[in-house]
Amino acid sequence: MSAISVRDVWVEFGDQIVIENLNLDIASGSFVSVVGPSGCGKSTFLRMVLGQDRPTRGSMTLDGKPLPDEPGADRGVVFQRYSVFPHLTVLGNVLSGYEFAQSPLLGKLFGAKRRAAIEKAEELIVAVGLGAHRDKYPSALSGGMQQRLAIAQALAKDPKVLLLDEPFGALDPGTRAQMHALLKPLWARLGMTVIMVTHDLKEAFTLGTRVIAFDKTRHDPQAPGRFGARITYDLDLTRDVAVPV
Ligand code: ADP
Ligand code: MG
Repeated sequence: MSAISVRDVWVEFGDQIVIENLNLDIASGSFVSVVGPSGCGKSTFLRMVLGQDRPTRGSMTLDGKPLPDEPGADRGVVFQRYSVFPHLTVLGNVLSGYEFAQSPLLGKLFGAKRRAAIEKAEELIVAVGLGAHRDKYPSALSGGMQQRLAIAQALAKDPKVLLLDEPFGALDPGTRAQMHALLKPLWARLGMTVIMVTHDLKEAFTLGTRVIAFDKTRHDPQAPGRFGARITYDLDLTRDVAVPV
């Protein structure tokens, strides 16, 4: 079953074409790595899946429903930096993800519901390896720990799709390796669909079940925005033989 379906999608900002006629099906439960040079439209693609940007033309669906019409609660997102609230503790941050999903208008939960939310948040905090840091503020955490927290916060929404935009790009190689060791089993256990943008090809192939490369295959020096990004290869790593498109 296809979780995300992208049909004839174009994205233009003014007279600049960023994404050109994108067609893509992402299977439910897959881990898709998206690679490509800076400025080729990877973040724009993620923002469309998140529902923050709309395609200029074309359509996108999640489990058969049009994407922009859905609330964002079924999608969690982690950016390279600034995904967590500095004024909330580890627990507060994870609860903020949960409360947003449960009651976006009321913001706060009470009684049994709140106890259940705290219990679930604590489970997530342990699952990402922050069990000893529940009451700390992000400023007291290392970069890797902050990204662990961002992942827990995104997962608190019980998302169908987890969107990661260069989530480990600011971390040193050792910490990145620890994040890989965290993320892959979490993904396998939770059975969600992941789309991860990364600059690191090794990371793309280590974590992904599929690797998609975006590129501006054609470039017009007279009109730099005339052609948008297209898919230059699409490798299914679950098959024996990967065939470039
Ligand atoms: P990547 O994530 O692959 O580095 P982006 O998706 O951030 O690339 O950007 C792709 C192109 O779209 C860039 O040329 C960028 O300047 C342009 N762009 C992205 N968002 C906007 C926007 N909101 N308004 C105008 N141009 C934008
Ligand atoms: Mg980007």
